[in-house]
Amino acid sequence: MMKFHDAHCHLANKDFLKEFDIANSMEEWSGSGLEYVIGVSTKLSETLKILEMSRSFEEIIPGVGIHPWKAKRKMDEELKEEFLQIVKNYKEIVIGEIGLDHHFIKKEERYLYQKEHFNFFLHIAEKNNLPVNIHLKGAEKETSEILTSYKIPSENILIHWYSGPKNVLRQFIERDYFFSINPSILTGSTHIEVLKNVSLNRILTESDGNVKYTIDDIRVSGSPGIIPKVISKIVEIKNIQTDELLRILQENIRLYAKLKAIKNE
Ligand SMILES: [Zn+2]
Repeated sequence: MMKFHDAHCHLANKDFLKEFDIANSMEEWSGSGLEYVIGVSTKLSETLKILEMSRSFEEIIPGVGIHPWKAKRKMDEELKEEFLQIVKNYKEIVIGEIGLDHHFIKKEERYLYQKEHFNFFLHIAEKNNLPVNIHLKGAEKETSEILTSYKIPSENILIHWYSGPKNVLRQFIERDYFFSINPSILTGSTHIEVLKNVSLNRILTESDGNVKYTIDDIRVSGSPGIIPKVISKIVEIKNIQTDELLRILQENIRLYAKLKAIKNE
């Protein structure tokens, strides 16, 4: 059976949970081959929710973090302390979704807060050798600069849904970061350029559920259930056998999310 992963899905998002009955859906997705899903968080309440969900479903790898859209003010000490405690108590986690957004967020006074949040979580990732799941829409150059000030191994860095300038894409490829490939490759988006340029050993697949996609005029909800379609498209674009691709993707998610280390503990 096909084994696949979803490296970025907002499983604990309340609209996602309204649309998907999680117990039934997890059973269905696992039945079709879902091995791992990284449930990213955008705020503390989602972080707590996904940690709870991960106790019921072994496929879920919890994402811990604050999204740049939610970085609206200075981080208070209490909030920092809550996240530090979570990282202390849970080892099998990913830090995300974190990053910068200068595209959807137009208020420049918030960029300073985004940067503060991003730095806070990058410090945690560096110190604890944790993988990061990064959003950087419209702030690709700024993100690239910030990342150079951390000693985070390249295989711990995942660039989510890259759609920025080509020169920064080249930098990231040279630095050997991971890129998550999104269902938007099925819609004729420029994201396909990322897939064409990144080598197979640095690719992961993601749904970014609860994002909706229009594929062949049909509106489709992002969820782990859409990943097999993404895999078929990667097979076509990269001109590779499905079995071979699945083997590589499985190795990639294990390396990024440190799953070997977890299993051996
Ligand atoms: Zn996302």
